[in-house]
Amino acid sequence: MSDSDGKKPLGLKGARPGNVKQSFSHGRTKNVVVETKRKRVVVPKPGGAKPSITGSPSVGDPSKRPAGISDAEMERRMKALQAAKEQEAADIERRAREEAEQQARRERRRAEAEAKADEERERENALKAKAEEEARKIREAEEAKARAAAPAAAPPAAAAPGEPAVAPSGPRGGGKAAPTPARRDRDDRDNKNAKNRNDDARRSGKLTLNQALRGGDGRHKSMAAMKRKQERARQKAMGGSVEREKIVRDVKLPEVIVVSELANRMAERVSDVVKALMTNGIMATQTQSIDADTAELIIEEFGHKVVRVSDSDVEDIITEVLDDEKDLQPRAPVITIMGHVDHGKTSLLDAIRNARVTAGEAGGITQHIGAYQVDQDGSLLTFLDTPGHAAFTSMRARGAQVTDIVVLVVAADDAVMPQTIEAIHHAKAAGVPMIVAINKVDKHDANPDKVRTDLLQHEVIVEKMSGDVQDVEVSATTGQGLDTLLEAIALQSEILELKANPDRAASGAVIEAQLDVGRGPVATVLVQNGTLRKGDIFVVGEQYGKVRALIDDQGNRIDEAGPSVPVEVLGLNGTPEAGDVLNVVETEAQAREIAEYREKAAKDKRAAAGAATTLEQLMAKAKDDESLTEMPILVKTDVQGSAEAIVQAMEKIGNDEVRVRVLHSGVGAITESDIGLAEASGAPVFGFNVRANASARNTANQKGVEIRYYSVIYDLVDDVKKAASGLLSAEIKETFIGYAAIKEVFKVTGVGKVAGCIVTEGVARRSAGVRLLRDNVVIHEGTLKTLKRFKDEVAEVQSGQECGMAFEAYDDIRADDVIEIFTREEVERNLE
Ligand code: GDP
Repeated sequence: MSDSDGKKPLGLKGARPGNVKQSFSHGRTKNVVVETKRKRVVVPKPGGAKPSITGSPSVGDPSKRPAGISDAEMERRMKALQAAKEQEAADIERRAREEAEQQARRERRRAEAEAKADEERERENALKAKAEEEARKIREAEEAKARAAAPAAAPPAAAAPGEPAVAPSGPRGGGKAAPTPARRDRDDRDNKNAKNRNDDARRSGKLTLNQALRGGDGRHKSMAAMKRKQERARQKAMGGSVEREKIVRDVKLPEVIVVSELANRMAERVSDVVKALMTNGIMATQTQSIDADTAELIIEEFGHKVVRVSDSDVEDIITEVLDDEKDLQPRAPVITIMGHVDHGKTSLLDAIRNARVTAGEAGGITQHIGAYQVDQDGSLLTFLDTPGHAAFTSMRARGAQVTDIVVLVVAADDAVMPQTIEAIHHAKAAGVPMIVAINKVDKHDANPDKVRTDLLQHEVIVEKMSGDVQDVEVSATTGQGLDTLLEAIALQSEILELKANPDRAASGAVIEAQLDVGRGPVATVLVQNGTLRKGDIFVVGEQYGKVRALIDDQGNRIDEAGPSVPVEVLGLNGTPEAGDVLNVVETEAQAREIAEYREKAAKDKRAAAGAATTLEQLMAKAKDDESLTEMPILVKTDVQGSAEAIVQAMEKIGNDEVRVRVLHSGVGAITESDIGLAEASGAPVFGFNVRANASARNTANQKGVEIRYYSVIYDLVDDVKKAASGLLSAEIKETFIGYAAIKEVFKVTGVGKVAGCIVTEGVARRSAGVRLLRDNVVIHEGTLKTLKRFKDEVAEVQSGQECGMAFEAYDDIRADDVIEIFTREEVERNLE
């Protein structure tokens, strides 16, 4: 409206058509209006432009009409006339300008007034109501005062206001009612109520005011007001929800969380959270648990902040106490020997402690985690013997960094091999210094310098190549260079200045744990800080206990073990896992509480992980048909360390298309429940140095569950790798053709030990491969030297018959051992 109004004065002004057009073509603001006029004025007016003005009168007709007037007079008149004209023009112009300005101002004011109308009205009303209220309060207060002063006069005074409800509050508030902020708040509240109550009265007052301001625009105004009101209401409604979203909450997120609890912590509706999960491809009901990563995704989607809480409060008992520098005492370094298979790790460790460890190891791979201490010129060195590098990493992953120095064994007759490189990576990742032991230098084809140059490629520059990594040439067989190696270790350890405080509650890491038939759960613990004593109460991973006995690496019972000392700990309530951290606590209740909490948390995590993987699968399948497929497997092993190592290795296998998922891993014979789980998931079972018991074997046969036995980790890993990459088409398959139980063992001169057996299943075949099992664990694998039925050498012995068997180059056989007889054949097969 202001636009059209703004044009009006221009239209009126511009009597000349050109001007009108001009003014129209220019904008609508008053500035433009003024400019247009100036242009117009230029012709008749500006006093400075005298020549042009004098020119115009000479041309002007009026000078010629009156004849009797002198030129000078004429000129004066003309000037006067001109002046008058100018004056008039200026006046008109000024008036027009003023008028336009006024008009614009009026328009603006009107618009503003309109815009503010309701607010003003409300403010005025609020003020008025407030003023009234305050006045009333003061009045009441005065009345109350008056009442207090003259009690007799009170009743009539109280009756006058006619509000008995207010009366009690009056005396309390006294005369100071108005200034108190609390009071004011209450007053405001009262005002609001009052506003509603006195609506009519207020409106009438307001109407008068508005009428005075806006005249006849009432309808227009009220329409706008209505619109605004609606708009305000809408904004209020929308603004409310926007505000709610804007509240960014710190959502405490444990490892695992139930969907409804997640919704609760975000203060969002459960259905919304379920919906959000669904849009992310996760089907979860409100009672289901989801893992922290999934939950984090959802929390971020809702715009909240994630605060990860790793452990519950119960864990707070185990707080890392920082030791005072003066309490620290030197401790022995912990050394891990790493390197490629067959490069001589076991032999070297064996040579170092001058005892036989190698005997009985299958496949030449170190399968047990042990820890031993040796004395080097009065100072102790602790050696860890790990099965492959996986244990080293898995321990690190669990937060147990136990190794101080890595001895990298490289055979001088070989080269830097894949596992050598892996070991280098592990040591570097852990930030552990390395010492290179170039082994087998006694061999005629040994070439230590080749090893040194090979290592250069992997950024290991040994001292002989002017680097800073110590290198020692050794022979585990002849013992050459062993002293130098130990000196090098001692030197490296000195540089590291390893210290710990022996006078505090012990903490340590589990190196190995197993369930011992006679002694119950046993854990080899490397004490890292403090001193572990008999009778100490501790929590270790999900287990707890009280130290019943401590046994050192020599098999001696000891009363305490200080930092860097490896000990076997007896008195656990269950078998912990390698890498679990042991902490001594004060009471058994605390220990149990922490262990139970951890157990529950781990269970929840496993459940959540299971669900997540399934969903992952679904998602992957949805993505494309050649989707990620999972190869589920079950692993049973002889010791926990092997299980750990295998699981770690399995996790590494896989590419974009296939992934290995270890459904379950554990220690001990393969049982029926394992077969049940395998059957349900369509998974093969891998026995590492363990066998299925009779009922499990039967069930497996019935249900068609595949059991595969291994005694070398790398064979197992290789097979799974092949299967995973679809290469397991032609494979050597072992078939068990029979089992024989050893009844008695005889010593026969010239032959050695002979087992008197009974074939309990299938057949015993002379040409077949055999394994010796003790408690379903593989003790030996080889061939038969002899298979006799009575006095005769036979090719085959049937089930139920007795026979005599002797192993080729193996003597350690006992009564009750079981002999497994198998054949190997090449078959077309696919693990999946
Ligand atoms: P690991 O797999 O790394 O533990 O290797 P082992 O300790 O089992 O050794 C593998 C093979 O190498 C065994 O047959 C050892 O006898 C042999 N070996 C180890 N060290 C030496 C050595 O210094 N000299 C020679 N000649 N043979 C060695």
